[in-house]
Amino acid sequence: MAGPIYLDSHATTPVDPRALEAMLPYFSERFGNAASRNHRFGWEAAQAVERAREQCAHAIGATHTELVFTSGATESNNLALQGVARGCRERGRHIVTVETEHKSVLDTCRHLERDGCAVTCLPVRPDGLVDLDRLADAITDRTVLVSVMTANNEIGVLQPVREIGRLTRERGVFFHTDASQAVGKVPFDVDEIGVDLVSFTAHKLYGPKGVGALYVRRKSPGLDVEAITHGGGHERGLRPGTLNVPAIVGFGEAVAICREVQPAEAVRLAALRDRLLAGLRARVPSLHVNGSLDHRLPHNLNVSFPDIESESLGMALDDVAVSSGSACSTTRRAPSHVLMALGLDEELAMASIRFGLGRTTTEAEVDYAIEKVASVVKRLRELRAGLGL
Ligand SMILES: *Cc1c(COP(=O)(O)O)cnc(C)c1O
Repeated sequence: MAGPIYLDSHATTPVDPRALEAMLPYFSERFGNAASRNHRFGWEAAQAVERAREQCAHAIGATHTELVFTSGATESNNLALQGVARGCRERGRHIVTVETEHKSVLDTCRHLERDGCAVTCLPVRPDGLVDLDRLADAITDRTVLVSVMTANNEIGVLQPVREIGRLTRERGVFFHTDASQAVGKVPFDVDEIGVDLVSFTAHKLYGPKGVGALYVRRKSPGLDVEAITHGGGHERGLRPGTLNVPAIVGFGEAVAICREVQPAEAVRLAALRDRLLAGLRARVPSLHVNGSLDHRLPHNLNVSFPDIESESLGMALDDVAVSSGSACSTTRRAPSHVLMALGLDEELAMASIRFGLGRTTTEAEVDYAIEKVASVVKRLRELRAGLGL
């Protein structure tokens, strides 16, 4: 193998060369500010932004008027939750979400709680799925918004978003989903799901970092998102600031490419992921799969190796880039809140490895990773046994 193997596609993905190609002119010769209304430089930039807006909207079955560009899914989640909490405060001051959400949802909810908004954070079943009856029970007269992610970034579990869409419509509450790991990877259509707000981000789908989008349904009566930053009328007044034109152009291209390759890629990656799991099961004596295998992204695998510290495992896997169970909080070594929500004990949660396969992943790479992981786990277990632990 030449160089390290990248199996961390849930953290980020490389920019597709075609997306990069499309971006390049917008750094130099077509550098205009999309808000400049009086000359060609501005018009060219604005035109490129609107084309990208159509590409991004099209990818999720929306129309271009329903999409606001942001700096990424973290900002989109903040804008969705804080924006609805403020804009719809007359409708109710209660939000329902789930324990396995991304920190940008959970931390925003905590912030809103300090602001006097009630938050119900639902547990999940051991397979990672939200219990629909519990969700239905959690919705009250005061509930304004339900926020449940489409695909989890650690365990790849796909939540029943269509059922949640139906439920929230019946109960007259808005539905937001963080679809950062899903858009471009599995079929996603805002009308089929019946969702009001969607966050997604370019760098998880072979676009550049630092750009994302928030979809806000136009035809949702009473849905009013209030801006959380101020300073100009850009993006329908929802997100002021000069647009990052090259990144937006790259986002549009990347998402259009995903749309083309998605069906075949999903089949190819599911087969590789199954090969990875079968290989690990055959080579590693004791192994625990985290999260449902049936309701899961095709390119995700998350496993715990009892008696192993995933931190040491990740380190020993020098030429295989994966993420270990505690990686999501970058400062503190704590067990993943997602794995703890599944009911894993702390030791097993700290013994997990996340594999994220991607567009460049080959069968040879998967086979190499199986051998490498198996041999490292064996060595670490022997070491541990030798120490009498
Ligand atoms: C990566 C990710 C985010 C954050 O996206 P950024 O664009 O990096 O801010 C939010 N939610 C999920 C599920 C993610 O995977």
